Amino acid sequence: MASLGRHIIVEYYDCTPEILNDVTLIQESMEGAAVKAGATIINSTFHHFSPYGVSGVVVIEESHLAIHTWPEFGYASVDLFTCGESVDPWISYQYLKEAFEAGHGSAVELKRGEMALLTRKDFDVKQLRDDKSAEDGGPIRTKDVWFTERDDKIALSLKHDGKLYDEQSGFQRVEVYNTQAYGNMLTLDGMVMTTEKDEYVYHEMITHIPLLTHPNPKRALIIGGGDGGTAREMLRHEGLEEVVMVEIDDKVIEACKMHLPTIASALEDPKLNLIVDDGIKYVKEAASGSFDVVVVDSTDPVGPAEGLFSVDFYKEVYRILSDDGIMITQSESPRFNNKVFKEIYEVYGSIFGQDKVYCYLAYIPTYPTGMWSFSYSAKGNAHPLNGLDKEKSRTFSESQGLSYYNEAIHESAFALPNFVKKMINQ
Ligand code: SAM
Repeated sequence: MASLGRHIIVEYYDCTPEILNDVTLIQESMEGAAVKAGATIINSTFHHFSPYGVSGVVVIEESHLAIHTWPEFGYASVDLFTCGESVDPWISYQYLKEAFEAGHGSAVELKRGEMALLTRKDFDVKQLRDDKSAEDGGPIRTKDVWFTERDDKIALSLKHDGKLYDEQSGFQRVEVYNTQAYGNMLTLDGMVMTTEKDEYVYHEMITHIPLLTHPNPKRALIIGGGDGGTAREMLRHEGLEEVVMVEIDDKVIEACKMHLPTIASALEDPKLNLIVDDGIKYVKEAASGSFDVVVVDSTDPVGPAEGLFSVDFYKEVYRILSDDGIMITQSESPRFNNKVFKEIYEVYGSIFGQDKVYCYLAYIPTYPTGMWSFSYSAKGNAHPLNGLDKEKSRTFSESQGLSYYNEAIHESAFALPNFVKKMINQ
């Protein structure tokens, strides 16, 4: 390696002014240019100046990409700086030239930190460690990197000490981060799926509410749930004879068995029939009336999970439920994805009957806005509150040592704020 870093100083001319003035587009282009060149994004920040112009930087594990735009001149100045040899900054140069619709560009590459001019100093890396965390007895940290899940208005950032798993599967990018506040965390396509420190909220609420209110559950089906948390909670119910789990992506199962063992602990349980397949296909082929409880523990309605939010899919779930069957879905956040939230409750009502569909809430700190919802749709006479035996629920919660679910939480979860009631006409 002749030099520590490569620095390309770029001038883009005759770009489309509207593009150079669109902070979201600039951010997406700069992040896209980093990923295209094989870089790993750590964080990025962009600012729109008034009345026009954008400035921003993308920090990558291999250094940074920075930009400042003058839309009024159709001009953008960009710095592409990479260290090591895994990333080719010229790929980013070409990517941005197209993204900005530049008439032409000029660039010069500087070798930064020519090895011939450098001599290694004998310093002790430990000195560089994060003294504060050492003081409070925490593990010594050397990195200060953040994972950020964002949409164009809201973002959640978690400090982490590196990535433990990173695979692009046939369906999605499967990553596991070692976060400082929430332990190991699974993300799919950059969205938080589950963390070691708050997963119990989601998994206890999506499981015990239906299984403690169904009159006599024997067979349960999980669609998705590749982290294993829903299966773990289901298998606490001894009355269940079989739990079938249909997860589309074996990389999710692999990542969780390796790095989230407390969540994936039941994936080898003999009572669990784990099938790697598309849940939509499985439900279509399953026998009518063959399940007492179906839990749809899916990702958001994108990619492989899109079809899990469709009328056809829910109609098939209705068909495979037994007469007193219950369907539970993670139904997104009424605050964060209110359009999807409203739409799916209308669909549930059209299939199960409006008076047989109930919504309940739980608070999951690492999910967007922290407020998350679940739907409870009854094919027969099962009812989330009338069917609740408080003593049985209290004993179950205590005997199983649950961290979130108990009889009072069960009841209160269905007490909805007015804005949510209004959204689903309840
Ligand atoms: N708790 C998470 C949430 O609320 O976003 C969901 C966790 S779980 C990991 C979601 C799982 O659904 C993923 O492992 C994903 O691969 C799986 N999945 C998505 N689409 C699927 C499909 N069509 N059939 C089966 N599993 C699917």
